[in-house]
Amino acid sequence: MPDTLIKVDLAQSPYANEMVHNRWHPDIPMACWVKPGDDFVLETYDWTGGFIKNNDSADDVRDIDLSIVHFLSGPVGVKGAEPGDLLVVDLLDVGAKPESLWGFNGFFSKKNGGGFLTDHFPLAQKSIWDFHGLYTSSRHVPGVNFAGLIHPGLIGCLPDKKMLAEWNRREIEFIATEPDRVPPLANPPFAATAHMGKLGGAAKAAAAAEGARTVPPREHGGNCDIKDLSRGSKIYFPVYVDGAGLSVGDLHFSQGDGEITFCGAIEMAGWVHMKVDLIKGGMAKYGIRNPIFKPSPITPNYNDWLIFEGISVDEQGRQHYLDVHVAYRQACLNAIEYLTKFGYTRAQAYAILGTAPVQGHISGVVDIPNACATLWLPTQIFDFDIRPSASGPVKHITSTDDIPMSPDVV
Ligand code: ZN
Repeated sequence: MPDTLIKVDLAQSPYANEMVHNRWHPDIPMACWVKPGDDFVLETYDWTGGFIKNNDSADDVRDIDLSIVHFLSGPVGVKGAEPGDLLVVDLLDVGAKPESLWGFNGFFSKKNGGGFLTDHFPLAQKSIWDFHGLYTSSRHVPGVNFAGLIHPGLIGCLPDKKMLAEWNRREIEFIATEPDRVPPLANPPFAATAHMGKLGGAAKAAAAAEGARTVPPREHGGNCDIKDLSRGSKIYFPVYVDGAGLSVGDLHFSQGDGEITFCGAIEMAGWVHMKVDLIKGGMAKYGIRNPIFKPSPITPNYNDWLIFEGISVDEQGRQHYLDVHVAYRQACLNAIEYLTKFGYTRAQAYAILGTAPVQGHISGVVDIPNACATLWLPTQIFDFDIRPSASGPVKHITSTDDIPMSPDVV
């Protein structure tokens, strides 16, 4: 059995664990060291560090302080890694913590986080998903059952000082273009809730004041939320600091392309078994600026789809120029509307798009003025036939129970 280099105790606050951090900064000390060729296990909290509970209330999703996320395990130092190298990471396996065989999906309140469809779903809602070996189903979303495509939503190496300064420059400038926006355009550094691993005292305070938030994906990878970066993948990460400093967290049992529900996919606590190696000078040799990866040879075998098209004309009928974001939103809204015809509430349909292995594709970006995006809904995840027919649709979902919702507190 490989060594478990980082353990997490789900009964303990992640702030008490010195091998966990929630910001990106080059001064965060390595939690542990490995050699090229080593394989090892890292345990992780769910991205909120256990804040979201397995119950039937969305109050926690509504009330969470989003400045605490994401709790990452690491950084793992790799001996011999230097700036300009590629860190090769094999995700040998990923799983849920045995004492925590469940996950959550939610929509944040528009006033606290929002999401891709926040104007349509402005209030906090939450569904709980139970794991049955390979499969998952939810007491809050009847009629679906699917195999997980387990992956870390967030994985990457520490930035160097120059890269960190550049992230902060561009994001703080961007926030300043519309500082009062709800939800905000981006999240600036925020020291009060920063957890910098082993770093303490004045050094911690200085690093916390400028540590980058973990929400966006950046050049180093980070919070990419790519469902296909699943167990069995091989990833090539740019290295910016001596030792690389690899961190991982935000494990997902399953997710639809886009992670459109934002809180999030099916979020879980778990473990990652990985192996690391180096390609010296690999960034320049291969012209690599952002990570690249090879997907897993093992993926759920869903091969029949109902595909929804969307174009870059918004809900108000306004024309947008080749805007894939608008087009994908329309494809998602079209799928939600369709699923309600089988008895789902709109929230249940939205949860399915956020959790199930739906694919999103950029189908066309040249046919002015409309981009075309498509949402691929796997038909085999449903307990019933969702194809259009002359006799249908049949309301298979007869319960009117919705996903638990928590109104904003005024
Ligand atoms: Zn996540």
